[in-house]
Amino acid sequence: MSNYKFGTNVIHAGQPADPVSGAVITPISLSTTFLQPSPNVLPAGFDYSRSGNPTRKALEECIAAIENAKYGLTFASGLATLTTIINSLQAGDEVISVDDVYGGTRRYMSRIAANFNLKFSFVDMATTDQLAAAFTDKTKLVWLETPTNPLLKVADIRLIADYVHSRNAILVVDNTFMSPYFQNPLDHGADIVMHSITKYINGHSDVVMGCLATNDEQLFTKLKFLQNSIGAVPSPFDCFMALRGIKTLHLRMREHEKNAFAVVKFLESHAKVERVVYPGLPSHPQHEICKRQMKGFGGMVVFFIKGDIATSRKFLENIKLFALAESLGGVESLIELPSVMTHASVPLEERIKLGITDTLIRLSVGIEDIDDLLADLRQALDKI
Ligand SMILES: *Cc1c(COP(=O)(O)O)cnc(C)c1O
Repeated sequence: MSNYKFGTNVIHAGQPADPVSGAVITPISLSTTFLQPSPNVLPAGFDYSRSGNPTRKALEECIAAIENAKYGLTFASGLATLTTIINSLQAGDEVISVDDVYGGTRRYMSRIAANFNLKFSFVDMATTDQLAAAFTDKTKLVWLETPTNPLLKVADIRLIADYVHSRNAILVVDNTFMSPYFQNPLDHGADIVMHSITKYINGHSDVVMGCLATNDEQLFTKLKFLQNSIGAVPSPFDCFMALRGIKTLHLRMREHEKNAFAVVKFLESHAKVERVVYPGLPSHPQHEICKRQMKGFGGMVVFFIKGDIATSRKFLENIKLFALAESLGGVESLIELPSVMTHASVPLEERIKLGITDTLIRLSVGIEDIDDLLADLRQALDKI
């Protein structure tokens, strides 16, 4: 494991100068196959590019370093990461997931994996009560996201990890919203941390990719076997792009957070805003847990506009600089209406239970000049 700090690791971990050319930047290694001086003798550890690739290896080592992990693996998407982790289970096993989990995660669990004799339940994890009630002797894996999407609910990773371990299961934490800069779930007892690299880690909205990291050698061996056997690996070019993006992760996250705080302050004092949700606010129900397990509060902000669906639409039709689009975590600011966009596939009843109303607006605050961002929000709010 690296002895360097975060800002050094993103730039150097797994990325020594190329021994052949001296290139300071990790080359894109496109070769699908690698020369063996004698049968099954692999000087650099590579035989076939699905099993292992030099550009991918650089990224995997860098991810491991910034999640305080021994091992890292990357995949073709965040959901390919999920698929690979779920494939480590056996028919008959049960999984418990946090209830307002990422929509695509829920869809894969309940509509795909559930067809293969795996059982999934979805519970609130603000405490261990619902988790304990859902646990059986067949529960092998618990899937946590904190903060959640879109309501930014926070769970105590240590509390959940201790309970899950007492029942001989493993805990996976989807850390996409915080990025490794603001939260390292393995430090709080998680067995596997995963990310959609598509979001903050790449940070430029031009790569779809996922990753996981762990300190457990047995788990790593199993997941690496699955990575090769399932084959949902990222391309060397995309790994290069992600390595390029990751080098500024610390700088971007600081700016995302700074801008998010300014946006929160502006929205909180605006007469047309009902309520703002942000983990950095003392009014956030789990603010104390946030301060304990996170090193910052990130760039995701949610607010409720006063009015109804028509008000939300009018506001969003008038916004100019924030792009009305799904996804998050890029340098550019994004805005969306979860009830009809990212979370439209969540059944209405469930959406109401979770509090995803038609007046809930989600912001992925980018790193543009804050004056321009606030002016845009102000002019669009003035139009309603
Ligand atoms: C986007 C996202 C995913 C899925 O990642 P893809 O790269 O789109 O497959 C999983 N979890 C969270 C929290 C996400 O935001």
